[in-house]
Amino acid sequence: MPRARRSASLALRSQVERLREWVCEANRGIYRARLVTEHSGNASGIARELDLVAIKPSGVDYENLKPQMIALATLAGEPWPAARYGLDAAGLRPSVDLPHHLFLYRCCPEIGGIVHTHSNYATSFALLRQPIPACLTAIADEFGGEIPCAPYVDNAGDHIGEAILSRRSRAPAMLLAGHGVFAWGPTPRAALKAAIMVEDAAKTCHLALLRGRLTAMPPEEIEKWYQRYHTTYGQPEMPAHAPAAAARSRRSRSRPAGK
Ligand SMILES: [Zn+2]
Repeated sequence: MPRARRSASLALRSQVERLREWVCEANRGIYRARLVTEHSGNASGIARELDLVAIKPSGVDYENLKPQMIALATLAGEPWPAARYGLDAAGLRPSVDLPHHLFLYRCCPEIGGIVHTHSNYATSFALLRQPIPACLTAIADEFGGEIPCAPYVDNAGDHIGEAILSRRSRAPAMLLAGHGVFAWGPTPRAALKAAIMVEDAAKTCHLALLRGRLTAMPPEEIEKWYQRYHTTYGQPEMPAHAPAAAARSRRSRSRPAGK
């Protein structure tokens, strides 16, 4: 093989392997954070330039998940043509939730990672068809308003994706009535973080509701927190698509008290 073709093929292989590692790490992350039980939930990521979506395989234990097991599909939902690029087969069979992930990737080009869970506290709000109000600074920071709740739908066709889009705000997450949570972001790691923050906010709100009522912050306060968090928080030198290990080391180096 000519040197130029060989190096292009190696670059492609490392791009696919990196996406699989990120998606595997996001799936392990939802398990470690106890957002999923047994085989429920899933995380995915996309490399749009390769028409490649990577997602948790169906019915596989989270503890045993390895990057090479992550399923690969095209944005149209076909098995990703790995052989055409001289790569190995496209992993195991994808999660049955793949169509909902694909719908969101097709409709929202800015999304690079998606997480779906049935995490308990957040889902308890979804069971009551209640959004989580923007009553905490952490909710204002991360979500810029309430965490909305989409109406109940079944899982046929594009029903779930359409329900999510029908209530989508700038918040990178959505409760789905009677079902669970979808969260997203520019990377699988960002989607994982949004899913963790939804559950953490829901737990705090649940505890507060045991003793009183929730009061949403005024819109101008929400805006102040959101803008500060999205413009001056963190370290400017870190790339937006930093892999999980780098993102973890950033947090441990720079996170101020209380964040
Ligand atoms: Zn589900």
